[in-house]
Amino acid sequence: MNIGIPGIARPVVDTTDRPDDAGLLDRFGRTAHDLRVSVTEKCSLRCTYCMPEEGLPAIARRDLLTPAEIGRLVGIAARDLGVHEVRFTGGEPLMRADLADILAATRAAAPGLPMALTTNGIGLDKRLPALLAAGLDRVNISLDTVDREHFARLTRRDRLPAVLAGIAAARDAGLEPVKVNAVLMRETLGDAADLLGWAVGAGVHLRFIEQMPLDADGVWSRESLIDAEELLAALGTRFELEPIGRDDPSSPAELWQVVGTPATVGIIASVTRSFCRDCDRTRLTAEGSVRSCLFGDDEMPLAPLLRGGADDAAIADAWRAAMWGKQAGHGMDRSTFQRPIRSMGAIGG
Ligand code: SAM
Ligand code: SF4
Repeated sequence: MNIGIPGIARPVVDTTDRPDDAGLLDRFGRTAHDLRVSVTEKCSLRCTYCMPEEGLPAIARRDLLTPAEIGRLVGIAARDLGVHEVRFTGGEPLMRADLADILAATRAAAPGLPMALTTNGIGLDKRLPALLAAGLDRVNISLDTVDREHFARLTRRDRLPAVLAGIAAARDAGLEPVKVNAVLMRETLGDAADLLGWAVGAGVHLRFIEQMPLDADGVWSRESLIDAEELLAALGTRFELEPIGRDDPSSPAELWQVVGTPATVGIIASVTRSFCRDCDRTRLTAEGSVRSCLFGDDEMPLAPLLRGGADDAAIADAWRAAMWGKQAGHGMDRSTFQRPIRSMGAIGG
């Protein structure tokens, strides 16, 4: 199958040393339990650290997984491979008109599996009732600044009010916790304390993510990165922060208490404090290929099996083999680091 990205390689994984275990093991002692499913490459924003101005090349409609196919794959993951949670992402998942059908098909195939969504929030206020009815449990919404002009420059779209309406709808619907993810760029460093002040007032959990070299334009540089240390210094000008560690060892976010408030703030230091050793993720692209890691270009296409009449056991075996080939880590902070061919919007963050 053409997965539309030149240079993406189907891995040949030697599984002769793999223990006979049903889970998604790799050669470095990790087991994946957390599934990210990208459902589209399309997006309503063009964040400079993610998408090119013109958007990503369109995936042919016939290559996109259907709700029934996504449901079947997630069902296999939950039932046969030890996956404990699924998160739908993209691109922007709300760009799929059939997102509620995807959730409903997944809920039917994997009844007890928690389902979460990572979204930019645009249009969420209108879609939320249908998504909740289909079984949505949690949402993470991305917002990098509450300065409207800076937001428009960073995302190349003047849509801050729509994002705020999406966040308010999620909070009003009682989704707990509503997590807000922010990627900090040098040009918005001065907005970080305002964003935290807003999050404390709005009662949402703010988590900053270090910018990874996954922008489609390829302009990321280590020198321009706002790392956790610089961010903490910027927040420290307005807030007193007390470190409280991680709420769960496999979570990449380190937490700080915002002293004098009930709020915490998280930092995901994806570049400078690599969490590869504890990584428990497995990913599916919108075309149905397993990616064992955000970085690295190996992809195991499951769609030919899915559409070629393979049974669940054969699909589960191919998924296990893909994860057995997972690399030890990304080495993003080293000069020898090679960025992957797909950008973040084409992988699913
Ligand atoms: N469109 C949705 C959104 O923005 O939440 C879902 C897809 S987006 C790729 C998922 C997450 O990846 C977002 O929180 C976004 O901020 C983050 N992201 C995108 N590019 C990134 C980069 N280069 N480094 C770190 N995080 C990035
Ligand atoms: Fe779209 Fe999300 Fe990428 Fe921003 S981060 S361009 S909202 S996919």
